[in-house]
Amino acid sequence: MNITILLVEDEAQVRIELTRFLQHFGYTVIGAENGEEGLAHYRQYAPDIVISDIRMPKMNGIEMAKAIKKLSPEQSIVFTTAHDENGYFLEAIEMQTDGYILKPVDLGLLEKKIQEIIQKLKAKRESELHERILEDIAQMQNSMLAVYDEKASPIFFNRKLLTFLGHPSLASFLEEHGSLSALFEKKEGCFYLDEGADAHRWVEKMLEPDVDKRIISIRGAHSTEPQFFLTSISEKTDNNNRIITFSEITSIMEEKRRYKHDAYTDSLTQIPNRTRFNLVFDEAVERCRIDRSDLSIILLDLDHFKEINDRHGHTVGDRVLKQFADLISSNIRATDSFFRWGGEEFVLLLPETSIANTVKIADNLRAIVSNHDFGISQHITCSFGVAGMEAECKEAPRLFEHADQALYRAKEKGRNRVEVAKRQ
Ligand code: GH3
Ligand code: MG
Ligand code: MG
Repeated sequence: MNITILLVEDEAQVRIELTRFLQHFGYTVIGAENGEEGLAHYRQYAPDIVISDIRMPKMNGIEMAKAIKKLSPEQSIVFTTAHDENGYFLEAIEMQTDGYILKPVDLGLLEKKIQEIIQKLKAKRESELHERILEDIAQMQNSMLAVYDEKASPIFFNRKLLTFLGHPSLASFLEEHGSLSALFEKKEGCFYLDEGADAHRWVEKMLEPDVDKRIISIRGAHSTEPQFFLTSISEKTDNNNRIITFSEITSIMEEKRRYKHDAYTDSLTQIPNRTRFNLVFDEAVERCRIDRSDLSIILLDLDHFKEINDRHGHTVGDRVLKQFADLISSNIRATDSFFRWGGEEFVLLLPETSIANTVKIADNLRAIVSNHDFGISQHITCSFGVAGMEAECKEAPRLFEHADQALYRAKEKGRNRVEVAKRQ
């Protein structure tokens, strides 16, 4: 470590002697004759250590030291003082200088003092260096990164995270939002805090064993759509901090959503398919059981559809199926859901609807289909089988079967009609 010492001493003889002594140890020495010159040299050379006499012409050592401490409060300063300068001691101590050495200067003591200061400087520089290296590593990380202390308070956000949040500093972010968790969006499969939860404790909340969600959704300052991030929370570091990284997985989540949509959607009609029906049906039965409410279903089967294909071709048949799905979709209530079961068979699920009401709804749809112009020369009709649970909910597994039997009867009785499942 190359050390520069500013030596301020008005007595030329002492200055020369001390300079020679210090240079002998390999220090770079800058000499000054008084406080004023010392201050000027201080500004110019930024020495590591200042050794200064107290009583000097123009500006004394105390005044100079005060000016230096104003420029850099942690500057190491050592005074050399004569016995009759006792009055200055208190001031020198109050200024938090690194001590004083009585004149005539004991050179061994001076070297010891300088070594002490150098050790302190070394330790300080080393920790500064570590801090800078850590900062560099944190900033270099390609993912967003935050550090939380043992009290679950954020103490560091890296630049990538701050840029995403649109804030110049952690302090300015906290001033506006209070906590990062305030930005977590309520999204399926994502971690977010319920209302009333302590926003500042989200890290602990996320670490709870029953929380399996490690994905968060946040809208960045410059993005219109919320983005998804996989969070990873480190074990506590030696300093009791936790390092949290956020890796963006928006495209993976979108792909997942697309796959899920495709798995549940009929490709021809773009309405939910049989797989989706099975899920929704189970949920509806469960709700019916809990609420003791009604649940009804309608099976729909287009009449003589084979003929349509035979006469007009498969492409026209497809078009009719699509038109049919659109027609029914736009004539049902928001609470009802419509599915393609397969082929030219469809299902309607009607929660909280009695059998009597379901029959009315089915007959209305029957009339709508029968009166609709599908743009082909053939008159298109549909048969309907209705079944309901009538607040009993015991028959859930057989509901579909009962509706199918009713549908069979509708076909038998001449089609383009609604039949209700018989009370079993
Ligand atoms: P019914 O009135 O008794 O229901 O007579 P149907 O002809 O409608 O019944 P059937 O079950 O005999 O025939 C169904 C036809 O629907 C046969 C099949 O080719 C046609 N079909 C099933 N899925 C599709 C499809 O996706 N596109 C087209 N174009 N036709 C389909
Ligand atoms: Mg059929
Ligand atoms: Mg049919």
